[in-house]
Amino acid sequence: MQTANLVQLVRDAGVVGAGGAGFPTYKKIDARVDTVIANGAECEPLLFKDKVLMEHYAAEMIDGLRLVVQHVGASKGIVAIKHKNRKAIAAVTPHLSANISLFEMEDVYPAGDEYEVVYHSTGRRIPSGGIPLHIGVVVQNVETLYHIHRAAQGQPVTHSLMTVHGHVKQPLTAWFPVGMSYGEALQVAGGATIDDFVLLDGGPMMGKVVTDLATPVTRVSSGIIVLGRATHLAERKTQSEQAFKRIGKSACDQCSLCTEMCPRYLLGYPIQPHLVMRSLLTTGPMSDTLTHWAQACCECNICTLWACPEELDPRNVCVVTKRDLKQQGKWLSAEQLQKLAKEVHPLKSYRSVPTERLARRLGLHKFTADAPLYTEKIAPKSVAISLQPAVGLPPTPVVRVGDRVAAGELVATAQESGLSVPAHASIDGPIAAVGQSIVITNNS
Ligand code: SF4
Ligand code: SF4
Repeated sequence: MQTANLVQLVRDAGVVGAGGAGFPTYKKIDARVDTVIANGAECEPLLFKDKVLMEHYAAEMIDGLRLVVQHVGASKGIVAIKHKNRKAIAAVTPHLSANISLFEMEDVYPAGDEYEVVYHSTGRRIPSGGIPLHIGVVVQNVETLYHIHRAAQGQPVTHSLMTVHGHVKQPLTAWFPVGMSYGEALQVAGGATIDDFVLLDGGPMMGKVVTDLATPVTRVSSGIIVLGRATHLAERKTQSEQAFKRIGKSACDQCSLCTEMCPRYLLGYPIQPHLVMRSLLTTGPMSDTLTHWAQACCECNICTLWACPEELDPRNVCVVTKRDLKQQGKWLSAEQLQKLAKEVHPLKSYRSVPTERLARRLGLHKFTADAPLYTEKIAPKSVAISLQPAVGLPPTPVVRVGDRVAAGELVATAQESGLSVPAHASIDGPIAAVGQSIVITNNS
């Protein structure tokens, strides 16, 4: 296949970043760079979908990587993968070539963060507030590269590879039809083994707590973890803004461990969560933090769930500070932010957070089961395909209630101008509703 039309094929197939951000992939590969990185350094405890993808679909993933390398005119492709994932390494290795190599990473969190992957595998640092493109690099999640391989054959994205873990009968990783409810996805894993639970959508560190079992799988979904509602982790993740600000204001002793362990700070970026916490003390009853020391935060949660001895929530204080900086027009430009950057911290390599110890700290060490690939056909009762993209403009429906569609058929077309990708049916059946989602009933 010629790569000249790869951008169009990838757009037509509705490919978006499967690593969590959901950025439309066609835009990301419409570039000229020297290096393309396949990011397989998945680091959230209990999520295995990237590992499973590389073990079972290495040839397809590498083909996607090769297509992108060729298209962007890069001289090399690098597969970033954790050293501990020996089966995945064994599966990928036979497909390597002169310009596609492997880079093995430590089993630490957050190894899979784009800034970390780029720094470790190329020695370059993405500028503060910048993107890999600024230093001649494109990073794609390994599942996204699999979808690029399929897009080049005219196959649209209809399923998302997702791990279901935690308090379920049979932890697994499977291709779930886009739009299937989380409740039904749990049933594929044998159902929850406890009564009073919440779901962690996207991993224990960066994922959010979800209680609505009707929440649909999207092209960005990476995993759901069933946790007891009263567990410490679930409770910490559901504290209100008022509570985490009030407690932070009264209890932060400015020990600065949150900053000292912050992965972005250790990489030399201008982020200092203890200064963000300090600003809680000085700015009135609503604790209007508004400090630019929050701006480079990647929301990894190391400060809150690993570093802080007082169990405060500097991560969420940074999150709301970033929101307020934007709302009040106080957001620094990338150039201003970059001026505040420093060299990589000399102790960076000594402050890595081992994933196994992190899982123990989070109370997840009892979940020792693997989550292997589930290969049975998954047939949900219905799907609700969301038309609200993580990034960009929503696609326009091209179907009406009562129409019958087949899996893979276009149901909403991308907007001509602006960042937008189409949506496709993930199952066969009649259209039951068209609104913010397109609902397809499975009556086969
Ligand atoms: S680690 Fe906790 S107590 Fe120490 S400065 Fe940070 S938020 Fe405050
Ligand atoms: S969440 Fe905390 S540790 Fe992570 S980047 Fe933000 S401030 Fe640093």
